[in-house]
Amino acid sequence: MTSQVSLQQQIEQLIRPEIRALHAYPVGDASGMIKLDAMENPYRWPQTMLTEWQQLLADVALNRYPHPKAPDVVDGLRAAMQVSDQYDILLGNGSDEIIQILAMAVARPGATILAPEPGFVMYKMIATFVGLNYAGVPLADNFELDADAMLAAVSEHQPALVFLAQPNNPTGNLWDEAAMRSIIEACAANAQPGLVVMDEAYLPFSSRQHLYLLDEYSNVVVMRTLSKVGLAGLRLGLLIGRPEWLHELDKIRMPYNINVLTQASAAFALRHYPVLVQQCEQIKATRTVLQDSLSAMGFAVYESEANFVLARVPANRQARELFEQLKQQKILIKCLDGGHPSLMGCLRFTVGSEPENAALLSALQTLLA
Ligand SMILES: *Cc1c(COP(=O)(O)O)cnc(C)c1O
Repeated sequence: MTSQVSLQQQIEQLIRPEIRALHAYPVGDASGMIKLDAMENPYRWPQTMLTEWQQLLADVALNRYPHPKAPDVVDGLRAAMQVSDQYDILLGNGSDEIIQILAMAVARPGATILAPEPGFVMYKMIATFVGLNYAGVPLADNFELDADAMLAAVSEHQPALVFLAQPNNPTGNLWDEAAMRSIIEACAANAQPGLVVMDEAYLPFSSRQHLYLLDEYSNVVVMRTLSKVGLAGLRLGLLIGRPEWLHELDKIRMPYNINVLTQASAAFALRHYPVLVQQCEQIKATRTVLQDSLSAMGFAVYESEANFVLARVPANRQARELFEQLKQQKILIKCLDGGHPSLMGCLRFTVGSEPENAALLSALQTLLA
């Protein structure tokens, strides 16, 4: 007699409870919408560049495995981002994969990932995927780092990894440098030392970068991505750091994680990096227009060093309702109300093209009238 175990029982016995409790990362269908929810660059490439790229892709050998080290991409990144030869570059299928590689590398029983909150949700998700503990430390007023709370948490949890997103998502701001240094130093001094990951996903829109921390501290690595600069569809992230760290992490990376189309396209795009940088400059100019217009409509607008703007709806308004009304008009933004308590009444607007921005502002004008 074979015992009959229902499918549901099989799942409950096999899949870890913390995985069953998860909700998959919500990515809705946005076809036909003005998409201001995911921090994408709204601009396409000039036609000459598109044509040149298409011709190049025609020669890519899809029947062959990719180059395991993608040297053209690494060289292109090194030149575009002015990374000195003393540091290595590790590539990921988006920086999400790099977070996963880092997490897997430190996943001893009881190890912890620590990050300020509200922050990027993937830190916690990936901690759960690989069986790490996760500790979120609330930001202080105005979304500045709470240095005392962070230092206390670093001491209590002895985190293996600390993620500092600069600029932070979803708040858009930069944090006090002295506070970050004290966290890095506390992690280095812990009995169980911790690695601090500076997540610079929004670097192209920011007035500050943190590569210099690599020179000063041996327990820092810097993570970047091409997603927000205009290549979200390619999935290419990178980790910059001392060769000793990256040598270990590279062992966990899947040998062919960067496919041939991404390699060819990224190497090409990096040869034309000034085009992307110029688009980011346009986005920054539009960001100012968006901030000023939202303020004028009565939103409490937060400063932004990124390609999105965080704003709290006027006192007599419901964020969720405004979000739904915009959605009915085919404008998709991000509603943060109902997430972290400090984001009550908050909406996040990705900075789109000038026409998209104008459409958003005119829709808001009407809705708020
Ligand atoms: C978007 C984002 C990333 C991940 O981007 P990828 O597309 O996976 O490279 C990482 N960190 C932060 C803070 C982000 O907002």
